[in-house]
Amino acid sequence: MGFDIHRFQGVVDEELICSICQSVLEDPVQIQQCEHSYCNDCIREWLKRKRTCPQDCKEVSEKDLLPASRLLRNLLGRMIITCDFVDEGCSELLSLDALQSHVSTCVYNARRLQPCDQGCGEIIAKNEV
Ligand SMILES: [Zn+2]
Ligand SMILES: [Zn+2]
Ligand SMILES: [Zn+2]
Repeated sequence: MGFDIHRFQGVVDEELICSICQSVLEDPVQIQQCEHSYCNDCIREWLKRKRTCPQDCKEVSEKDLLPASRLLRNLLGRMIITCDFVDEGCSELLSLDALQSHVSTCVYNARRLQPCDQGCGEIIAKNEV
């Protein structure tokens, strides 16, 4: 499942959208024969039900999936997206490359790991304090 298009700043290029989930590619792979790109999770789910490329109906099997090209991954990595916790109040804008490391330390992330403030020295998730 990709990233919601509405989380991105400006216009999202069609090439960066997964036609299965209609969202921006997450962990993209490409099909060897036709070079169509999809989210890794989306196309693997799809291939469990159908053995074809969703866009051109060519026959595909799981071994035809290759990591997406460096160009595509670089373009994706530079896209500017809002934090996962924008609804909780985080106003950060990040490149997709930086998103994961931000989210894991975002002050709005209830699952963020932090030292226990009772002083027991344990590292625990914030919502389990
Ligand atoms: Zn997808
Ligand atoms: Zn295709
Ligand atoms: Zn944040």
